[in-house]
Amino acid sequence: MRHPLVMGNWKLNGSRHMVNELIDGLRKEVSSVDGCDIAIAPPFIYLDQAKHQASGSHIMLGAQNVDINLSGAFTGETSANMLKDIGMKYVIIGHSERRTYHKESDEVIAEKFAVVKEAGLIPVLCIGETEAENEAGQTEAVCAKQLDAVLKTMGAPAFGNSVIAYEPVWAIGTGKSATPAQAQAVHKFIRDHIAKHDAKVAAQVIIQYGGSVNASNAAELFSQPDIDGALVGGASLKADAFAVIVKAA
Ligand code: PGA
Repeated sequence: MRHPLVMGNWKLNGSRHMVNELIDGLRKEVSSVDGCDIAIAPPFIYLDQAKHQASGSHIMLGAQNVDINLSGAFTGETSANMLKDIGMKYVIIGHSERRTYHKESDEVIAEKFAVVKEAGLIPVLCIGETEAENEAGQTEAVCAKQLDAVLKTMGAPAFGNSVIAYEPVWAIGTGKSATPAQAQAVHKFIRDHIAKHDAKVAAQVIIQYGGSVNASNAAELFSQPDIDGALVGGASLKADAFAVIVKAA
C-alpha cells in the first residue's frame, strides 16, 4: 500500500509571522491525521524557522529548489547537504516555474535529482505538459521525455523512495484542474512507463497530482487508483483549506 503525500508549495510567499501562524493552525487541524504524509515547502529563508515551529508534529519540511553543486564559489545557491543539515526531508525539483523562468533543462533537473538522492533527501520530481503540448496530443511524450532524463542517468531504482508530481502546466495557478479521469490516465501512463524498467519500483513510487487542487476537488482526485496525494500551491497558504486536502487523502 502506498502512503499518500500532501505537500504545500508556498512558492514566493510568506513572512516570519505567516510561518508561525500557518504552522500553528495546521498543527491543530491535522494532529489526528495518520493516513497521509504531510509536508510544507516554504521559501528557503524560512525553512529553519518552519522546522522549529513544526517540531514535535508530523508536519515535514521540504525545499523548493537546490543547486547541483555541494559547495564552493556559487554565489546565492543552497546545497542538498545544507538542506539535510537543517532537517529537510523533501526537495521539489523541476517545477514548471523553474523550467520556464530559470531555463532549467531536463539534464540539470536530472543532476538535481542525483544530488538530492546522494544527500539522503527525497526528490519531488515535477513533470507535466504545457497547454499547447496538451492540445497537440503530446502529453505522454512530454512526460516520458522528462522521466527519461532521470531514468537514463539514475536508473529506475532511484525512483524507489522518490516522489513524482504530475503537474500539467495549464492547471497550475489557473483554477482549472485536470479532471480526475484526465489525471488518472496520465498517472497510469507514468507508472506504466517506470514499470517498463522496474515493476516493483513502479508499484511503490508516489505519484502526486498538482495544479489547482483545492478543498472541493481533492477528494475526487484522490479517489483515483494512481493518484497518491497532491502538490498544492495556492490552497496551501491557508491552514483550513490545506487541512481539508490533507484529510481527503
Ligand atoms: P496551484 O500550484 O495549486 O496553485 O495550482 C501547484 C504547484 O505549482 O505546485
